[in-house]
Amino acid sequence: MVNKKALALLLDPEKADLSALPVTADCRPDYIFVGGSTGGDTTAFVRALKKKLSTFDFRLSTIPLVLFPGNAEQFTPEADAILYLSLLSGDNPEYLVHQQVRSARRIHASSVEAIPTAYILIDGGVETSTMRVTGTKPLDPSNAEGIQSIIDTCVAAELMGKRVIYLEAGSGALTPVSPDIIKAVRAATSLTLIVGGGIRTPEAMHAAWDAGADIVVIGNHFESHPESLADFVRAGSASLTGSSTDERFMRLALAEAQKALAADEIPVGCVIVSQGQVIGRGHNLTETLSDVTAHAEMQAITAAAQTVGGKYLPDATLYVTVEPCPMCAGAIGWAQINRIVYGAPDPKRGYSTYAPRAFHPKATVTAGVLEDECRTLMQNFFMRKRKTGISG
Ligand SMILES: [Zn+2]
Repeated sequence: MVNKKALALLLDPEKADLSALPVTADCRPDYIFVGGSTGGDTTAFVRALKKKLSTFDFRLSTIPLVLFPGNAEQFTPEADAILYLSLLSGDNPEYLVHQQVRSARRIHASSVEAIPTAYILIDGGVETSTMRVTGTKPLDPSNAEGIQSIIDTCVAAELMGKRVIYLEAGSGALTPVSPDIIKAVRAATSLTLIVGGGIRTPEAMHAAWDAGADIVVIGNHFESHPESLADFVRAGSASLTGSSTDERFMRLALAEAQKALAADEIPVGCVIVSQGQVIGRGHNLTETLSDVTAHAEMQAITAAAQTVGGKYLPDATLYVTVEPCPMCAGAIGWAQINRIVYGAPDPKRGYSTYAPRAFHPKATVTAGVLEDECRTLMQNFFMRKRKTGISG
């Protein structure tokens, strides 16, 4: 589900004021969770939320909207995914299995991704609405026996085939789930770990991430301080620069190249990025489409133009695993892309030999990002080709 530390913004359909939603292209959570312990019209809410996000900025419509339901009635096919929760910390069959059975048919018939999730309440110092509604007690993190019980519950979740563990201190918790508990759970299981409840500062978010949480959820705090979302997002993006931005996006281009490889195509991949968001991606498809123009860059440029609804991409950076050929360099020039980043050089077919002035005059080029990985992928492909050519 996640390959980096992520921030989820939790919106309760009954409480959230969409007109005050401070989400922008620069202030963008990784996920939006939608749910509450009582109800609200989730379908209408998700529709309104989608509309709101896409009218703000087209890039925001790519934020995954994930249901975090309090009961079966909160399911809506409008969402992208649903945390298919089972309240494993409690002993109420209603929330262990009955609500799940009640919603199963509708979820199964929809295109919404169901994510099997163990929902585990940890005592955060106050009685929460989830405790009241479900009639269950949280696990006690204040003594050795309670901590063991938390760990055992998480291990059981993994054995049951859950994919995600959600440690919940509860909306309005006095204390969030402690880093020690998160560390202990992280050491005991390999599942995606979501932590929420009582997280009121970027420091607390970092403490949870550093302890091993994959996704930190802020909700209740945000409802009373909507402007603070920017602080969390800024604090988050600053910490994600362990590898450079260029390397991060080149990895996405490499992932595209892997798709080409899987289809027995020359493994070249490309992503186009605008204001920190991927707006187009593509991989080489010349064999699949019997089309010599179906290079990775051409696919990505077409996709990006569709995303922005225009043919020029002057704010964009194009990442491609191998130096573009003259044809692609021409297309990149026509699209007015102003920055090109590539991995491995291609002295035999690259633009720099044959068409060094093909890009837009103001465009800048960065070469050699993750060069070794990009080149190795190509070399392995051609070596394999030669071998299969001999035996076949
Ligand atoms: Zn090309």
